Amino acid sequence: MVNLLQFDRGALGDWCEQQGEQPFRATQLFRWIHQRGARDFAAMTDLAKSFREKLVAAAEVAALPVASEQVADDGTIKWLFDVGGGDAVETVFIPEAGRGTLCISSQAGCAVNCRFCATGHQGFSRNLTTAEIIAQLWHAEFELRRRLALGQGERAITNVVMMGMGEPLQNYAAVVPALKVMLDDHGYGLSRRRVTVSTSGVVPMIDRLRDDCPVALAVSLHAPDDALRDELVPLNRKYPIAELLASARGYLERAPRDFITIEYCMLDRVNDSPAQARALLALLRGDGSSANPGLPSKVNLIPFNPFPASGLARSPAERVAAFAKVLHDGGIVTTIRKTRGDDIAAACGQLAGEVQDRTRVAERRAHAASARVAAPLSRRRGPVAAERGRA
Ligand code: SAH
Ligand code: SF4
Repeated sequence: MVNLLQFDRGALGDWCEQQGEQPFRATQLFRWIHQRGARDFAAMTDLAKSFREKLVAAAEVAALPVASEQVADDGTIKWLFDVGGGDAVETVFIPEAGRGTLCISSQAGCAVNCRFCATGHQGFSRNLTTAEIIAQLWHAEFELRRRLALGQGERAITNVVMMGMGEPLQNYAAVVPALKVMLDDHGYGLSRRRVTVSTSGVVPMIDRLRDDCPVALAVSLHAPDDALRDELVPLNRKYPIAELLASARGYLERAPRDFITIEYCMLDRVNDSPAQARALLALLRGDGSSANPGLPSKVNLIPFNPFPASGLARSPAERVAAFAKVLHDGGIVTTIRKTRGDDIAAACGQLAGEVQDRTRVAERRAHAASARVAAPLSRRRGPVAAERGRA
């Protein structure tokens, strides 16, 4: 059985052709699935009976099993989807006045292993398929439409952010078709500026995304210099800040917005000093020289959401405000992210997909720990420990 959630419209057209159907049939089928949430082929009455029979025999619209659902006091909903093999991924719906944002996962676990991230701490299990990525949106959209009793054409989800579990640009081949389904006028019809890919900085893939499917881009920076960023976001050792910002500048040429969002997780006494705010400002504003051209950006400060075993603390609100002021006074639009779904651990970086298979998680942790011991300890912990020591 082929899961039709796997295909963007082009691929669905190819599949339909292989079944001996006209390409426009694919568009009809695509609309049934992604605009009406249908999965029962027999009910798709505008498709020829012979085609419906073929579909019943060869295809399915396979949703992901929901392992759990939690609703927070502020209306945030967190779904835990079982993706098999002891893995689960989380999807978070964040309702706001006039819009609904869905935060989607791209991988089970994550290999980047950022110090402050629960998903990274969990280790990497596997890439999600396009079907598993789209199934999160499909479930949330049509489940919410039912619950909110929305009419035909009314949408529950107006914005998608690839900010759940995983590094989307390390699962490029599956993520791009999923983005195309989100953007497709016959699919979810979201505008490019309402779909955001957030990345820890996979430079070559930022460049490819610009050419293949430019959507809004958020870069998780978290540090104003390479020494500290090497510690917090290990991928920085491969793609240091200067290369990352150069790639982000290149992205702007085709981006749907005229700025890049910079995400910066506020860690108490690690990356939140006024001096570090000034360093970040200098980096983003640049000095007009070719060596330091800056980057048109908006900064989103994310107060760190603690999770057990991180060994890190959230910056106090005054420190976050002081940091924001430096940027703001320097002419950079800066926002402080409100923490949503706190009571159900649905906030950024708390998504760990903790489920059934504890042993597997324990194994991965042990593996990650032994890999870490291999790296020189001083280099790994250095600046972080030093900053905290100074506190
Ligand atoms: N892998 C991608 C997208 C998923 S993470 C990325 O790193 O950008 C989404 C955002 O949550 C990132 O900006 C990430 O740095 C941030 N984040 C991770 N852990 C966090 C935590 N514990 N508290 C606050 N933000 C966190
Ligand atoms: Fe992966 Fe993003 Fe978490 Fe880093 S912050 S470990 S890149 S999910």
